[in-house]
Amino acid sequence: MKVTDHIKKAKGETLFSFEILPPKKGESVQSIFNAIDPLMEFKPPFIDVTYHREEYVYKDRGNDLLEKVSTRKRPGTVGICAAIINKYGVDAVPHIICGGFSKEETENALIDLDFLGIDNVLVLRGDAIKSEGRFVPEPNGHSYASELLRQVTNLNNGEYLHEEVKQNETDFCVGVAGYPEKHFEAPSLKSDLKYLKQKVDMGAEYIVTQMFFDNQKYFDFVEKCKNAGIDVPIIPGLKPITALKQMSVLPSVFHVDLPDDLVDALDDCKDNQSAREVGIEWAIQQSKELKAAGVPCLHYYTMSKSQVTKRIAEALF
Ligand code: FAD
Repeated sequence: MKVTDHIKKAKGETLFSFEILPPKKGESVQSIFNAIDPLMEFKPPFIDVTYHREEYVYKDRGNDLLEKVSTRKRPGTVGICAAIINKYGVDAVPHIICGGFSKEETENALIDLDFLGIDNVLVLRGDAIKSEGRFVPEPNGHSYASELLRQVTNLNNGEYLHEEVKQNETDFCVGVAGYPEKHFEAPSLKSDLKYLKQKVDMGAEYIVTQMFFDNQKYFDFVEKCKNAGIDVPIIPGLKPITALKQMSVLPSVFHVDLPDDLVDALDDCKDNQSAREVGIEWAIQQSKELKAAGVPCLHYYTMSKSQVTKRIAEALF
């Protein structure tokens, strides 16, 4: 079932959902089930599974030979989605990205997802890989999420890249990312919203936000989206802080601010255990306020640490 239909069916009740990361290469699918099992009592209608692009290093093999070695850490998004649907009977939402994919490879991946009965995709550009300073599209790939979105909506209309592989139309519900604190490459929030609106005009049916720690940023963002003519559900994404080092890691990796009160509380923590308690309490308070404001869904970035999300969900659902 489509994410948008889950939201309609809930008739104003706030849903609970979460995102998991594929396990590291070499781990078993059981580690995914161990991360999901404790959260099933809160009845998530859908679970997102992130996609992690291949990174490379070049190893000197002597005699002027360089060997390209893949350092991909978390493969398996499509398979994990299929396993989730089979085991739990809930919808799995794979993230699909532009980076590393030609249009043909994207089409093949979408055909696989359709075969597997997957109804939703979260369409993203992806970030630059470590060996490249800025995002570089694949030859014959997409530069922006909007272009990838166009490919999905084309498939939904039965328009395949080549006549020879033409099949039935797909019926994917498409979500996209939104940034209450602006995407870090955008020159201004206004510019970022212009391209977000473009994605919605091209067929995106819902938005999931980047994490934020100050609800006012989300409320202002929703208001600005409304004023810009964006009228699809905007699902807030929440990341509970679980370790002291995240005070510097989250702003530098995700380009988000931490409010002073949260920073002060974390500064008073002597170890990760107490920082985790502060993070959980902060996320509970954020969630309560968002739920009271009637958000369609509370979506948690679990980083596969389900016990933390479970504590928060227990206070809410
Ligand atoms: P876009 O919408 O393409 O925007 C990228 C930038 O380009 C923005 O600054 C935008 O303003 C600008 N822009 C857009 N269109 C145009 C245009 N036509 N001309 C000029 N500028 C333009 N990454 C992963 O690799 N895997 C994941 O699983 C993943 N999951 C995510 C889930 C969520 C909810 C979020 C918020 C992010 C996720 N990301 C993931 C990270 C995401 O890939 C990065 O933030 C990426 O840098 C931008 O992706 P986007 O889809 O927002 O890009």
